[in-house]
Amino acid sequence: MKNFEFEKIIELIGHSQLIAVTSHHNPDGDAIGSVLALNGLLTSLGKTSVPMVPNDYPGFLKWMPSGENMLVFSADPDRCKKIISEAGVIFCLDYNAMHRTDAMCEPLKASAAVKILIDHHPDPLLDDFNLYYSDIETSSTAELLYRFIRGCGWSDKINQPIAINLFTGIMTDTGSFSYACHYPETFEISADLIRRGVDPEYLHRMVFDTYSEHRLRLLGYCLAEKLTVLPELRSAYITLSKEELNRFHYQPGDTEGIVNYALSIAQINVAVIMTERKDRIRLSFRSKGDFSVNRLAREHFNGGGHKNAAGGDSFVSLEETTEKLKGILLQYKEDIIRSFK
Ligand code: 5GP
Ligand code: MN
Repeated sequence: MKNFEFEKIIELIGHSQLIAVTSHHNPDGDAIGSVLALNGLLTSLGKTSVPMVPNDYPGFLKWMPSGENMLVFSADPDRCKKIISEAGVIFCLDYNAMHRTDAMCEPLKASAAVKILIDHHPDPLLDDFNLYYSDIETSSTAELLYRFIRGCGWSDKINQPIAINLFTGIMTDTGSFSYACHYPETFEISADLIRRGVDPEYLHRMVFDTYSEHRLRLLGYCLAEKLTVLPELRSAYITLSKEELNRFHYQPGDTEGIVNYALSIAQINVAVIMTERKDRIRLSFRSKGDFSVNRLAREHFNGGGHKNAAGGDSFVSLEETTEKLKGILLQYKEDIIRSFK
């Protein structure tokens, strides 16, 4: 789904000097990779491009090329607001609605810039953007961005750092090429990025083999002590209180990926991790097969995401959230059982 010709983009970029490249709150590897890749490309076209995220990103992504240029809205709101208001074009990467940018949402909405969405999440709020390139069948925003760059005729600008950022986006959003990668093109594009200088083994180690000891022990604790399996509901969940997170010296990103271990159990079709944050309970959902955790998160936890990976929030206690979740899982029991055989 696209409401523009690439020529229009080339013209728009040609006319605007200052461009902001943004992504969603709690940015992940796809968000960071896409923002840094497009920022690198626009810079090589001679533009003043500013990569910007609403809040800081996990340490295991801090090695990514030109990450040092990233502006973090929560750390530097005045500077970011000025750029958002003065930019001629703002790219909106890896989010499907402005509110996904949290505190950045208001300044973004108020800006007169042309807002261009490139994203792969379902059900985009298209009214939030002037131009959109949205495709839910694509593995990652990074892959869609590669197609966008190719469409604009800028493929020759994809140098090694840009390739590394794009590849990291694809690799993280597909769980190292294990899901959301049903089409040959994901691999063809990845192969092209390897030709442009990506070392997949090195990238994989940089993202997945750079845990702190605390993070690994937190994972062990979750699996040994905190995993509840509900075989009759084909579901499993993990809860973590603030006290437990503190005990393991929690750093942002430390709980990422833990929910996938719960989903790795045979016969388990839905997995959830609930973590107690400052003012809310954060929920992260995963599913196998047809059961949509996007729908579950949207309908019950003010959230959303993809069919098989979604997030949401709850504003009651961890205990009450757990009870609420169990009730909802029971309600969806038949759909969950049927989801994956
Ligand atoms: P995670 O569980 O890894 O935080 O998120 C899984 C997927 O759901 C990601 O694609 C993420 O962008 C999306 N997601 C996470 N939290 C939310 C949320 O609160 N709202 C929406 N719309 N999407 C979310
Ligand atoms: Mn993504």
